[in-house]
Order: sequence, then C-alpha cells, then structure tokens
Amino acid sequence: MERERWAEALKDINWLCGRCQEGRLRLPDKDVQSSMTADTQLVFHEDWFDHDDVVSQFTALMTCDNVRCADPVAVSGKTQAEHFQVDWDEYDVIHTWTVEAVTPAPLPFPLPAATPDAVKQRLRSACQLLWSDHDAAGNKIRQAVEALLDDQKVRKAVAVPGAAGSAGRRQSLTLHKRIEAFSIKNPEVGDHLMAIKWIGNAGSHAGQPLTRDDVLDALEIMEVAIDDLYVRTRATLGARVRRILKAKKPVRRK
Ligand SMILES: [Zn+2]
Repeated sequence: MERERWAEALKDINWLCGRCQEGRLRLPDKDVQSSMTADTQLVFHEDWFDHDDVVSQFTALMTCDNVRCADPVAVSGKTQAEHFQVDWDEYDVIHTWTVEAVTPAPLPFPLPAATPDAVKQRLRSACQLLWSDHDAAGNKIRQAVEALLDDQKVRKAVAVPGAAGSAGRRQSLTLHKRIEAFSIKNPEVGDHLMAIKWIGNAGSHAGQPLTRDDVLDALEIMEVAIDDLYVRTRATLGARVRRILKAKKPVRRK
C-alpha cells in the first residue's frame, strides 16, 4: 500500500484507479477549477498576508491513464500553493491537496481477483467512506472481516443445549469468538484480523472517533491478510526459500 499517497494533505494524488486497478488517476492542470475560500478573501489584501496561505476550494475531473479504461473520477476539496524561488524572477509552485470527496473512490491497494466478492464490496465501501466518515469506514472494514470469515467457513453460531426435555437453541458468535476460532488453524492471519477488530471497536464507541490513519492502518493490515489467504505470496516464496536453504544453491522453477 502506498501509504504516503493516502495522507491527510497530499502533494501527489495519482491514486490507483478503482475500476481497472492498473491505471493511475491523473489531474490535468487545465481542468482544475478553484476559487479562494471566503476566509482567505477576508484577509487577502492585508499587508501581512502571505500568498502561500491562500486556501482555495477546488473541483476537478481526474482520468485514469490506462487507455483501455480512462474512467473519469470527480474530486473536490481544498488546495494550497507553496511558491519556491528558483531564479531571481522565477518561481516553482507546489500544490497541496486536501481531498474531501472522490467518486468513484480509488483503492489504496489492488484487490486480488481471488478475493471473495462480499469482502471486495465492503472494502470498496470503506474506501468511499474514508473521505467522509472514518468511524463508518472502520465499521465497513469490520464487516469485510466478517465476510472473510464466512468465506473461510468459520461458523457464525453454536448450538446451546436446552434444559432437560426442552429444545436447544442457536447462539450467534461474536466477531471476537469467530476470529479466535479461525486463529486455531491460522494464528498469523488471525492476529491480523483481531487487530482490525480492535480498531473497528474503538470506532464503534462514542468519544473515541477513528482518525484517517486508524482506517488506513486497518486497510493496510487487511491487504496483508487477503494476500496471505488468497494470493499466498509469503507461503509460495517461503516454500522456495526452504528449497534453496536445503539445496544450498539456486533452485530453478520447473
Ligand atoms: Zn482505470
């Protein structure tokens, strides 16, 4: 995950396209519409005002640079321009973008094709909510963990025997209990899912709202869990490492 491309204020917003998951979203300069915020206009003409403090509201249409996709993506938020003197009469400008909405939402990492659809769908919703409501985004990632456990055939409920002569009943298992059950066969991924659960828990409790960084933590941990379960990069590479260690020389792939 390219964490630096997902910070609060960005110098570079060339995110991965959420549609094709190959191209980058490009922001053509000429297509950016911006206007100084009212707060900036109030003080713009004061002697003490520094032009690097101009804050503008912007809106633009980004386009995926994969020619087979070229999906348009609407983006808006606030922008600020920093000026750097490069010669006596020449300045370079670097824009900082604080994005407040993107539709359709880009993805912080490609979702492997083998990822269950129910997991993909919830993670895409989380990526959309990331821009507007961190707690709701955290909750969606928690739902993605539930969907992942469903796909891994971790049971949702247990049978509770009734009193003598009466019928038993089914009792739903909490997410915590389901992750514990999953951890018996896969403790490493189980730890990852439990960490995501704790992040989601904090978001569900009033008074401790999630930050953007918390949500990105959960997404980053989810990326590794998905890879371990459905792509198996570490397991496949680990097997090759063990073969090389045993042979004490390079081992060619068949
Ligand atoms: Zn694309």
